[in-house]
Amino acid sequence: MRSAVALVTGAGSGIGRAAALALARDGLSVGALGHTRGEISSTVEEIENAGGEAVALLADISDERQMAEAVRRLVARFGRLDVVVANAGINGVWAPIDDLTLAEWNDTISVNLTGTFLTIRTTVPELKRAGGGSIIVISSINGTRTFTTPGATAYTATKAAQLAMVQQLALELARHHIRINAVCQGEIETSIDANTRLRKEKETAIPVVWPEGQVPISGGRPGRSEDVADVIGFLASDRSRHVTGSPIWVDGGQGLLR
Ligand code: NAP
Repeated sequence: MRSAVALVTGAGSGIGRAAALALARDGLSVGALGHTRGEISSTVEEIENAGGEAVALLADISDERQMAEAVRRLVARFGRLDVVVANAGINGVWAPIDDLTLAEWNDTISVNLTGTFLTIRTTVPELKRAGGGSIIVISSINGTRTFTTPGATAYTATKAAQLAMVQQLALELARHHIRINAVCQGEIETSIDANTRLRKEKETAIPVVWPEGQVPISGGRPGRSEDVADVIGFLASDRSRHVTGSPIWVDGGQGLLR
């Protein structure tokens, strides 16, 4: 039998890259999807150098046609699809609500929420064809446990909506043996700051002083992408066969403090 196949969006950096490498180490063939060719090619190269199988898929997750073509190429190459990691996302603009423009709001919604919809919408037919599978949606503590990040209204709304989609779809997809879960991480050291614009923070910040740093389990240090990738690996595997419709917070306790 052919090995299981995973699609990871935003696989060119951070959590997506770590997840793609971890799934490949677990023996899955990986479709590494992103919109920056150099980054996804580098992920694919690293997987292949380690003896794994991967294909680079260039697509913007908010573009229906590009996503359909990427999934078509993935299935043409590996013959099936079993695991989907809907990870690509941006922080977007964090600003006071009366300063945030409609265009800025739409950008965040379009990548984080419509992009998640399109990732799931495009891949579910393939998971059904495979007889089942696992979808892992990368949400956040923002919108699920934490509501104090200054000006992050658009971002928080998309992350809350991702968890709502996971719970709604868990029931719809169960009859097709497709599990769907959310990973809600706290602060992880990645390059997401490059996709963040913060304005007028003083107007939205909540003036609190954390007792011993923001991440209790690691003495205040942010998590690493690998901390999240290990949980993604668990949710992709049969070890989580009875888990669906569930958020798993991977935040070292940060979301409970905030
Ligand atoms: P990252 O290093 O910036 O990775 C995000 C990836 O998504 C990048 O490779 C980016 O490509 C890609 N991407 C962005 N927009 C895209 C689009 N329209 N189409 C295709 N690919 C796109 O950030 P990360 O921290 O790993 O973030 C991954 C996920 O974790 C996000 O959903 C984020 O909301 C969530 N998260 C992160 C943290 C954290 O502290 N890091 C905390 C909570 C939740 P380019 O770089 O080429 O734009």
